[in-house]
Amino acid sequence: MRIDVVTIFPDYLAPLDLSLIGKARRDGLLDVHVHDLRDFAHDRHRSVDDTPYGGGAGMVMKPQPWAEALQHVGGSGPQGARPRLVVPGPGGMPFTQALAGELAEEPWLTFACGRYEGIDERVYDYAADELGLEVSVVSLGDYVLNGGEVAVLAMVEAVARLLPGVIGNAESLVEESHEDGLLEYPVYTKPAAWESAPGHIREVPPVLLSGDHGAIANWRHQQRLERTAARRPDLLHSSHAGAVLADFDLATATPADVPELLTLSRACWVTEARANGTLDIPPLLETLEEVAAGIAAWTTWTMRAGGRLVGSVRARVAPDDDSLWQIGRLMVAPDLQGRGLGRALLAFGEAQAPPGTAAYWLNTGARSDRNLRIYRKAGYRVRPGVGSIPGTVDLTKPRR
Ligand code: SAM
Repeated sequence: MRIDVVTIFPDYLAPLDLSLIGKARRDGLLDVHVHDLRDFAHDRHRSVDDTPYGGGAGMVMKPQPWAEALQHVGGSGPQGARPRLVVPGPGGMPFTQALAGELAEEPWLTFACGRYEGIDERVYDYAADELGLEVSVVSLGDYVLNGGEVAVLAMVEAVARLLPGVIGNAESLVEESHEDGLLEYPVYTKPAAWESAPGHIREVPPVLLSGDHGAIANWRHQQRLERTAARRPDLLHSSHAGAVLADFDLATATPADVPELLTLSRACWVTEARANGTLDIPPLLETLEEVAAGIAAWTTWTMRAGGRLVGSVRARVAPDDDSLWQIGRLMVAPDLQGRGLGRALLAFGEAQAPPGTAAYWLNTGARSDRNLRIYRKAGYRVRPGVGSIPGTVDLTKPRR
């Protein structure tokens, strides 16, 4: 693969000589050319920026040096060949593993590193219309860097490691995070029992020492689901765990669901009543009218299997604090519990939060040990003090 990078800081790209990427270059797998944009500026100061039309802070990169640089790069390949132009920018499409895979299929990529407030917009049209390049504006994430160079280093590394021969053991690419929508499982190496402090032994999970490949594969898959649910619930509903929910019909509840919701609540909260030593729990006592009022005040989702209501969760922007996404009435029919459905439904509820959400908030019985364990594993922490309902605790989890 050929890669060209145009920048005003060529030295910034020096790390591309190191490690596996440097070796790939030396092995002839990657042909990298770095160009100084200032070589295409013709005034005494080799200036590449100017003040913005319309006013405002900062400077904008001038079109002419960029046009000449892209013309130079675009014309330097074999007859008829054109690179795909990737312009890093915080307003671009997100850089994902899928996009890395797509870019790795290209024979030739050119990266244009912006600085200041960015590149004069006409350059993008010029590159597409007059140079015939496919132009992709790509963002590394929802934050702002000073320039495109760091983004190019990250993108080139993610793309180049997918090229045949760059990573010694190609199998190590298969099970990685983001390859199939799930994060990778935790990994361990020797010693099996590590003394991290005098008398404090930390052991590798025994299943990994069992030699039972099926059991190891199952354990790893379960770890992937749990890790994804805890750290990136936004991925979960489109991943394998989401496939767990995909076997069910998820829908927004309507008044027609009220009788079944009341029945399922009664069945699900009996264990909570026993754990907390009280029957005085709203989901056990609510009338049909109160369940209907709940549907009106919250968004409630139902989960059905073959028409039968087997689960539900509801959520809303917290009435007194619009940075909190309040999740409640998470329930799974008793005969289907213990299969990760509650975790998946919780992740689904979290993923419905509106953009301004800073944290998720839920509430459970102060003595509901099983629930507390599940919520803890999903990243929730008990808020100090008494819960918003007597006999309960509130838990929150920052949105990542
Ligand atoms: N004014 C621009 C805006 O708000 O969209 C930000 C310009 S930024 C200070 C300067 C350059 O850094 C951009 O032209 C781009 O090359 C690079 N850059 C900044 N954040 C980036 C991100 N999240 N992903 C990729 N490139 C980024």
